[in-house]
Amino acid sequence: MSSPISRRLFLALGASVVVAACSKSDDGASGDTVSPTPTTSPEVPTTSSTLAPAPFDVDPFTLGVASGDPSTTSVIIWTRLAPDPSNGGGVLEEEVPVRWELASDAEFTDIVSSGDTIASARYGHSIHVDVSPPAGVVAYYRFRVGQFTSPVGATRLAPDASSTEPVRIATASCQNYTDGFYTAYDDMVKQSPDLVVFLGDYIYEGGIGTLGADTVRLHDSDEITDLVAYRNRYALYRSDPLLQNAHAACPWVVTWDDHEVENNYASLTPQDVADTDGFVARRAAAYQAWWEHMPVRLDPPVDENLSIHRRVTWGGLLNMLVVDGRQYRDDQACGDAVLQVTPACDEAGDPNRSMLGPEQETWVAENIGGSAIWNVVANQTVMTDIRLGAAVLNYDQWDGYAPSRDRLLESVASADNLIVLTGDIHLAGVGQLTTTADPTTSRGIEFVTTSISSSGNIDASTEALLVALPNIIDAEVTHRGYTLHTVDATSWTADYRIVDNALVEGSAVTTWKTFVVTAGSPTVTTV
Ligand code: FE
Ligand code: CA
Repeated sequence: MSSPISRRLFLALGASVVVAACSKSDDGASGDTVSPTPTTSPEVPTTSSTLAPAPFDVDPFTLGVASGDPSTTSVIIWTRLAPDPSNGGGVLEEEVPVRWELASDAEFTDIVSSGDTIASARYGHSIHVDVSPPAGVVAYYRFRVGQFTSPVGATRLAPDASSTEPVRIATASCQNYTDGFYTAYDDMVKQSPDLVVFLGDYIYEGGIGTLGADTVRLHDSDEITDLVAYRNRYALYRSDPLLQNAHAACPWVVTWDDHEVENNYASLTPQDVADTDGFVARRAAAYQAWWEHMPVRLDPPVDENLSIHRRVTWGGLLNMLVVDGRQYRDDQACGDAVLQVTPACDEAGDPNRSMLGPEQETWVAENIGGSAIWNVVANQTVMTDIRLGAAVLNYDQWDGYAPSRDRLLESVASADNLIVLTGDIHLAGVGQLTTTADPTTSRGIEFVTTSISSSGNIDASTEALLVALPNIIDAEVTHRGYTLHTVDATSWTADYRIVDNALVEGSAVTTWKTFVVTAGSPTVTTV
């Protein structure tokens, strides 16, 4: 390809940039708090009715509530006690008892179950409770400590396999706090999805930064490397009321990408050789803080590893595999070059290299398929093949691990109706998934959601070049937003919701385009 195009593609397709960012914001608002409830609850049968006094005198529920990983019988509800959220949390006791309550109504006049659990210092006084609300309806949950009551969250179970009731799923990724406001989440809540799937880059690890045209608010510490700093960073992000509201609105299914630890790390290899010392401990701290703040059905980490790949089903419609493309991947090939227009170095085509690691690759192959109508991979980095001949534009994406991608796609049957949900690259895109051996046959569709707030990597002038690539069906590179998927037994409809200007609060959110995939045919129609 010509060098001017190369340069523009470089700008367009470059690896995620760690945006130097910044210092402290503000508002720390917590979500809506329900009116105080009596300290005795005669309708609660499962626990003693009297709450012990709180061991702090300010509201510990500054980070809101969340739920996630719904199964057909239970769902995880989450909160973290943090009366001083930007300073390690501020709870001095080793253990604090917390009551949880589950009700059929948002006013908690009909509490269907409740119990007591312990928030411990070991995990930052976060709690993850596996609860069983009634099937088929929205249920409400909250937490109480002493005189303090948390905001109320809404959640639900996944329907069982006999159901093909349509489901609405929002996908989101890349929410750099400094780069923009969370207006996309405000619109998402208004659209009331059944489920949110978060695809990575929940936090960014960079330092404070400087306010400017593209930096609307600041981080409150230098680059984060230890447990307290990672906790404080999650607390800063979760202080945003729009993000809190989105977590409270419905269950989430969350995976991670690189910035939850460090830009473009691979397994235990940091981005820069200079960061090697201490990286095992750094990753362990980052993984623990992620676990502490996410409503995940996972055991807490006990060492530097944390297995997060898992399956979530939704009725007879969805078999969703949530994958981890960071923890087990081989280091990026060819020195992690961002754009290489000459043929890739031999390493990129080495069949022994893997994006998911051998064990997770086998797990995907064994768990994709079955009776669900749609097979979904909730994934970090772009899977659509955009290699230019043998040249790889971004070694951090699946193009840098093509044999690993081929193995995945070859394990999927055409009847499996493969949909890959992706984030990472801060643009809206739709691609068709093909193998190296058969580069013109679509084996599934990838919906790449744009970033919630992280600034775009791509110049608008290169959009047409992107769209001209054979496997890219469409792309929009200049807006932030999310994607709202409506799925039923015969069709998958993806509405790309985009924020007019995420650099100002309260900007309008509209639909860029709507794409439809019909079950049985891995092609896309633009509505
Ligand atoms: Fe990102
Ligand atoms: Ca990323």
